[in-house]
Amino acid sequence: MCGLSVKPSPVRFNHLLLLSLVILLDSKAQQTELEWISYPPNGWEEISGLDENYTPIRTYQVCQVMEPNQNNWLRTNWIEKGNAQRIFVELKFTLRDCNSLPGVVGTCKETFNLYYQETDSEVGRSLRENQYVKIDTIAADESFTQGDLGERKMKLNTEVRIIGPLSRRGFYLAFQDVGACIALVSVKVYYKKCWSIIENLATFPDTVTGSEFSSLVEVEGMCVSDAEEEAENSPKMHCSAEGEWLVPIGKCICKAGFHQKGDACEPCGRGFYKSSSQDLQCSRCPAHSFNDREGSWRCDCEDGYYRALSDPPSVACTRPPSAPQNLVYNINQTTVSLEWSPPADTGGRNDVTYRVICRRCSWEPEECVPCGPNVGYSPAQSGLVDTYVTILDLLAHANYTFEVEAVNGVSDLSRTQRLFAAVSIATGQAAPSQVSEVIKEKVQQRSIQLSWQEPHQPNGVITEYEIKYYEKDRIYSTVRSKSTSATVNNLKPSTAYVFQIRAFTEAGYGTYGPRLEITTKEEATAAIVSSEQNPVIIIAVVAVAGTIILVFMVFVCACQLAFLSLTGLHIFKFPGTKTYIDPETYEDPNRAVHQFAKELDASCIKIERVIGAGEFGEVCSGRLKLPGKRDVSVAIKTLKVGYTEKQRRDFLCEASIMGQFDHPNVVHLEGVVTRGKPVMIVIEYMENGSLDGFLRKHDGQFTVIQLVGMLRGIAAGMRYLSDMGYVHRDLAARNILVNSNLVCKVSDFGLSRVIDDDPEAVYTTTGGKIPVRWTAPEAIQYRKFTSASDVWSYGIVMWEVMSYGERPYWDMSNQDVIKAIEEGYRLPAPMDCPPGLHQLMLDCWQKDRAERPKFDQIVGILDKMIRNPNTLKTPVGTCTRPISPLLDQSTPDFTAFCTVGEWLEAIKMERYRDNFTAAGYSSLESVARMSIEDVMSLGITLVGHQKKIMSSIQTMRKQNFSGAVPRT
Ligand code: AMP
Repeated sequence: MCGLSVKPSPVRFNHLLLLSLVILLDSKAQQTELEWISYPPNGWEEISGLDENYTPIRTYQVCQVMEPNQNNWLRTNWIEKGNAQRIFVELKFTLRDCNSLPGVVGTCKETFNLYYQETDSEVGRSLRENQYVKIDTIAADESFTQGDLGERKMKLNTEVRIIGPLSRRGFYLAFQDVGACIALVSVKVYYKKCWSIIENLATFPDTVTGSEFSSLVEVEGMCVSDAEEEAENSPKMHCSAEGEWLVPIGKCICKAGFHQKGDACEPCGRGFYKSSSQDLQCSRCPAHSFNDREGSWRCDCEDGYYRALSDPPSVACTRPPSAPQNLVYNINQTTVSLEWSPPADTGGRNDVTYRVICRRCSWEPEECVPCGPNVGYSPAQSGLVDTYVTILDLLAHANYTFEVEAVNGVSDLSRTQRLFAAVSIATGQAAPSQVSEVIKEKVQQRSIQLSWQEPHQPNGVITEYEIKYYEKDRIYSTVRSKSTSATVNNLKPSTAYVFQIRAFTEAGYGTYGPRLEITTKEEATAAIVSSEQNPVIIIAVVAVAGTIILVFMVFVCACQLAFLSLTGLHIFKFPGTKTYIDPETYEDPNRAVHQFAKELDASCIKIERVIGAGEFGEVCSGRLKLPGKRDVSVAIKTLKVGYTEKQRRDFLCEASIMGQFDHPNVVHLEGVVTRGKPVMIVIEYMENGSLDGFLRKHDGQFTVIQLVGMLRGIAAGMRYLSDMGYVHRDLAARNILVNSNLVCKVSDFGLSRVIDDDPEAVYTTTGGKIPVRWTAPEAIQYRKFTSASDVWSYGIVMWEVMSYGERPYWDMSNQDVIKAIEEGYRLPAPMDCPPGLHQLMLDCWQKDRAERPKFDQIVGILDKMIRNPNTLKTPVGTCTRPISPLLDQSTPDFTAFCTVGEWLEAIKMERYRDNFTAAGYSSLESVARMSIEDVMSLGITLVGHQKKIMSSIQTMRKQNFSGAVPRT
C-alpha cells in the first residue's frame, strides 16, 4: 500500500514544520477494511468504530486478559518507504487498566510490543516472529477503567517511535499483544522531508531528511532563470531531520539587465539598464544615452557622444573637448614655449589632457613634415595635464607649426574633425650640435691629426672648430681649425691624450662631443733625444734627420714627378698640402673618377623622385644607405641612355672634381656608380635647391645677418677651393645650393662644359662661352681665369644675395654691361644693403685683380660683421637710393608713358594710383625723383611692391639722368 503524500505549495522554510510530512500509512484515512494479518485468529480483531470526531474508522482490538501466555500478532500490509531512511510510527490506542478488571491478576498485561521487518517486496501473508525486529514495548500513559470504548476519548494514548536507518525498499509493522486489553485506534507511518522552495533566488528541490536525528542534508540550490550565482558564494541550504530548511548559505542574484521581483528576475524596462548582477535595481539611462529594448545591461550613446573603454555604463556619454584657447608662444633661439587656456567645452569629462603636434615647414606654408624624434618636449609631447609645454632642440632659422589639441578619454573614438589651436613660428639662431664623429687620421710621436664630420645640426654657418685636448688629469689646451680637420702638435710621445671638439657659429659654441683618447707614438729608439740632453747631440740628430727627410722628399718628389709624367699629370702635388688635380690631365678619365670618387653599389641607392633636369640626364632625389651607416638624403644625377663616350667622360668629370673636395661649404660627393646603368653621381641632398631661386621665392624674408651668414658660407667654400688651387669660373647664385639649415654650398664643378651648359654663358670675342655679368673683365677679355676672377664673381653673388635674386645689371645687354664695366660703372647697393657690404662688393670689382681681396680676407671681413651686427645696420637713406646710372639701351622707354597712371599700369601697380595722386605725384618727373622713403610714405607697406616700384623708378632714372659718379 502506497503512502499518501501531502505536498504543500512552496513556502518559506521557517513555516515548514507542520507540512514536512510524507504519509506512508494512515489507518484512519482508510474507510474499507484494513485486512492486516492477525494471528492467531482469536487474537487481534478488526472492528469498525468512530473516532473522537465521530468519523468512522477501522481499529484493531484484542482483550485476552483472562488467559495466560497470550501471544497475539497483528501485521500491517507492506509499506513501501520510498526515499525515506528514517520512518516515524505514530500509534494511537486505548488500554484497559488491569486493576479495573476483576479476576485477571497474573494474566492481564498493560503493554504491547511493536516490531518491524524490512523487505524489498511483499512476502505473503505468513507471519514468522523471529523475522521481526523489536522496536519498543509500548505502555499506555493513560489507561481506562471502564469497558466502554466511548470513553476512550479521554484516555487515548499517542506514542511515536522512530525506525531507521532503513535500507530495503519497504517494511512491515507488527504488534504483539501478550495479554492486554488494547484498541489500536490509529496507526500512522510517515517520514519527513524538506519541501522544494525558492530561497535567495535559488530553487532547492524536495529533499528527504537524513537518516539520523542530528543529520543535516546539504542541498545545492539552482538559480532561477535570469539569475546567476553570486561569485564564490553558490547557494546552499540544509535539510534538517525535522524537514526544516536550515542554514542558508550563498545566494543567486539577477543577471545584468534584470532585477528581482519576488522570487524571480524581470528584465529592466526600456530607458533603463542594469550593468551588473551586483546592482540591485535597474537605473535610468545616464545623460546622452538611450536604449529601446528591455533587459539591457547598458545604454547606447547618442550620436556624437561616446563612452571610453574605461567608462562604466553608469556614467554619462561624453564627447571630445573643444580646442584649447588663447594659445601663446615664446621663442628663445631654438626653444619654443607654448601656453594656453583649457578648452571652453571639456566634452563632459574631467580627464582632459593636451598633446602637441610639431611640424617643420618649408618656406611654403603647405609643405610641412612631422618634426621627428630629434625634437624634445618638456614635460612631454602628449598626456600633458598642465597647460604649457616647452619644445626643445628645434632647428635654427626654421619654420614650425605647432598644434595644441585638447584630448579626453573619448577623443580617439570620435571621427569628427580634430579641433586644435595652432601657431606658426620661425626659430632663431642656435649653437651647433655636437661634433661626434671624430677620426684619428695620423698619430705621430708628437702630433695627432684628426678629422671630423660637421655636426648634424650646424644651426648656422660654422666659422670655427675648437679642439680641446689634455693629458689625463692635466690642464687642457685648445687649438682652433676653420675646417673639419686639424693637427695638434707639440705633444709628448707615448702619452695618452683626450680630445674633444666643438663647433662655433655666430650663436656661440656648441657642446663638446664625446671624449676620444689617443696615445702618441713611442719615440723611435735610435732617434730618441730627450730635450734635457746635450744640445750638440740634438743639433747632430736634427741635422741627420733633416738630411734624411730632405733625401726622402727629393725621392718622393722624383717619384711623384715620374708618376705624373707617366700618367700625363702636370701638376706637382706638394707633400702635406692638398691640391686640386685637373682630371683632364689623366689620360684615362676612368682612373681619375676612381681615384677621387667612391664607387657605390647601386643597391645602396634608392631613387625617390625627379627634382630637375641636368645636361646629361635627370636629377633625382633619393636615399643612400651605406653598410654600417645611417641612411642619408642624396641628389642623384643620372647619365641618360645612349650617351657618347665623351658625354660619359664629361659627366663623370664633375665627380672627379667634386670628389677631391671636403668642406662644409662645398657640395659633398657621396660617390659614383660607373659599373652599372644608369651611370650616376650621388651628391649630398640640398633641400632648398639653387640659391637664386630660393632667394626669389623668399624675397625680403631674411634678416641681414642671415644673408651675410649665407655669404660667409659661400666665401668659406671658395676660400677652400682657391686654397686647393681650384678656379671655379662660374661662381653665381644659380650654382650655389642651399640645404634645409640655410647652409650654402658651392656646386657645379666641371671644366668648359659647365660653362657651356650655363644659359648665362655667351661666346665672347676671345672665344669660348662666358657668363658675362658674373665674370671679371680680364677673364672676358683674355680668358685670365684666376681665384681673383672668382672673387669678382663672388662680388656679383653678394649683390644677388642682398637683392634677393635680382638679375645683375637688370635687363641691360651683355655688351652694355661689358662697356659700362670698362667705363668704370659698378652695380649700386641693393635696397637695405648695409654700406659695408656694398663696399666689399665694390672691392671685389676692382679693375686691377691684385687689388681685389682674397677669399680668406672676405671670410674675415664677414666674420667681423657677423660678430658685430651693429656694423650691418643700414643707415636710413644711404643704401636705399640707387647710385648707379648704368646705361641700358634695351630698357623700355619710360618716356613713352604720359601719366603716372599709365606707368603704374605698365608695372602692374595700378592699385596705388590713388596713393600717388593723393600725395601730389602727378608727373613722371616727380616720380623719378622719389626715394624709398617717399614710396613708403605713400602707405605702400609690402616690401615686394616697394622694391618693384623703386626698381622701375631706377630704370626710369637711367633713361633720364646721367652724371652719377662712376667708380674707377
Ligand atoms: P645641375 O645639373 O647641377 O645644374 O642640376 C640640375 C638641378 O638639379 C639644379 O638646378 C638643382 O635644382 C637640382 N640639384 C642639383 N644638385 C642638387 C643637390 N645636391 N641637391 C638638390 N638639388 C640638386
